[in-house]
Amino acid sequence: MTTNPESELSGAVSALTFDVEEWFHAHALNVPRAKWGAIPSRLERPVDEILSLLDEHATWATFFVLGWVASRSPLIVKRIQDAGHEIASHGYWHQPVTRQSRADFRADVSQSKSVLEEIIGEAVSGYRAPSYSVGPKNDWVFDELNSLKFAYDSSVYPAPAPHGGYGVPGASPVPHRVRPGLWEFPLPTLRLLGRRLPAATGAYLRLAPMFVTRWALDQNRRRSIPVVVNIHTWELDPHQPRWRVPPLLRLRHYGNLRSTRGKLERLLAAHRFAPLREIRERCELRSVSPAGARGQRCMAAPEECADQPWAGQTAVVQRR
Ligand SMILES: [Zn+2]
Repeated sequence: MTTNPESELSGAVSALTFDVEEWFHAHALNVPRAKWGAIPSRLERPVDEILSLLDEHATWATFFVLGWVASRSPLIVKRIQDAGHEIASHGYWHQPVTRQSRADFRADVSQSKSVLEEIIGEAVSGYRAPSYSVGPKNDWVFDELNSLKFAYDSSVYPAPAPHGGYGVPGASPVPHRVRPGLWEFPLPTLRLLGRRLPAATGAYLRLAPMFVTRWALDQNRRRSIPVVVNIHTWELDPHQPRWRVPPLLRLRHYGNLRSTRGKLERLLAAHRFAPLREIRERCELRSVSPAGARGQRCMAAPEECADQPWAGQTAVVQRR
């Protein structure tokens, strides 16, 4: 994979990530799985748009590809890889982990990993759960990912979600090792009046004014925490079909779709990003030798790259 020279510079480099899935995979729409195969793919255009924007800004990103999508559209996966980006797994059937047994989860992730590795011809080391559905109640996920030879996960949302679908308010918002060799890269938050709010991902990025996203990025970067921005491919497709859903879900899925491209461009113009695989490698190096010269160029402060359990993170995070 190509290395982004910008990411070699000092300071907090964040990650730009994309969940590669069709519009009808979104849980808010609840489109039955039996219908998926008959619905035409709309992935090509948004993926091309993302790839050309990234190319324009000489930025490399991480793409969490749904296994079902990879099986149906392998050439899209290849195109993303050929452009120098990291391919990671978003599971196969897009089932939240909270609705899967441990055995089902293992089968789903294994299937997605095999499909992706067959296409790209190299190991997949990152995983993101559908709907960020990993928390203390199912942290066996980390044991399974570890045994499947993943090197990192980016599924934990350390904030309450307004719609209640996910979120672990007490979890650490900084990257940390969850098992030997396995790191967690939590989704980004904005700290406001002592509360941690979700920001810079999906609907929060689309619906909030840009200054909120900028604020979240700046706040985290000041503390040397890499921000894991996340965008779904369908969020760059304002003309996608409208599925009939209740008003709140309609707002969550279709609200401000036209703004995503502009916001992505502004992020690319103002911030440096590196693939998560690269950031994980630096965290791993840094946690081994936090006092080394390399540590000065890494993303997070040494204590923030250390092993951290689920509980008790608030004290660590708020002491600054
Ligand atoms: Zn998804």
